[in-house]
Amino acid sequence: MVELRNVSVTYSNGVDALHDINLKINDGEFAFVVGDSGAGKSTLIKLLLKEITPNTGHITVNGFNLEKLPKSKAHKLRRTIGFVFQDFKLINTMNVYDNVAFVLRSIDAPIKYIRNRVPYVIGLVGLKDKAKCYPNELSGGEQQRVALARALVNDPQLIIADEPTGNLDPKNKFEIIELLKGINECGTTVLMVTHEHELVRYFGGRTIRINAGKIAFDDYIG
Ligand code: ADP
Repeated sequence: MVELRNVSVTYSNGVDALHDINLKINDGEFAFVVGDSGAGKSTLIKLLLKEITPNTGHITVNGFNLEKLPKSKAHKLRRTIGFVFQDFKLINTMNVYDNVAFVLRSIDAPIKYIRNRVPYVIGLVGLKDKAKCYPNELSGGEQQRVALARALVNDPQLIIADEPTGNLDPKNKFEIIELLKGINECGTTVLMVTHEHELVRYFGGRTIRINAGKIAFDDYIG
């Protein structure tokens, strides 16, 4: 669950990036976050990951009260969140299997678990036959699927996808959202930031529009 109560962020240069935000996203929801460039979307994501702290207000993410969570323990929060970026951010010197396994190895997961879990999630995103390929041998859509597998492998409570379709062609845009929807149907909360209004209209569902640091719209469409 994600909850923001009366949250405001003013950067040190005086820019009011978010102003008195109240927002609740329940476990198991799928929500689109839309808004023009500069609206405050990235600031919202940074707050949820505790990369920045608000000037005022209260934030809870996956059971963590962020006010009480010291920066030194923020990794515990981040382990409950899977992140998908616009530009994939895969490690080019590692094959698909290792890009995904890396997440589990870095938290010292048991080897047996890694050997079961990694092929399972690679299969979930439809890349069973590409496990040995390197990122430069994959299409953009396939690379974003690897990024999705990487986000999923640690069984996060929440997936934050920041413009995940931004670098993809139309067919792959739809496929990535279909995959995110499927992941959501299995119980993971999904927050997807996008500026692609056509996709939002096509898929529908909860849509949160941020405009100049305020929530201008939060309702179900479609
Ligand atoms: P979006 O992700 O919707 O494009 P941002 O959250 O990045 O919007 O930015 C919201 C506002 O805060 C913008 O006016 C932006 O210029 C400003 N801003 C973002 N990051 C910083 C920062 N680190 N320091 C100062 N101002 C910032």
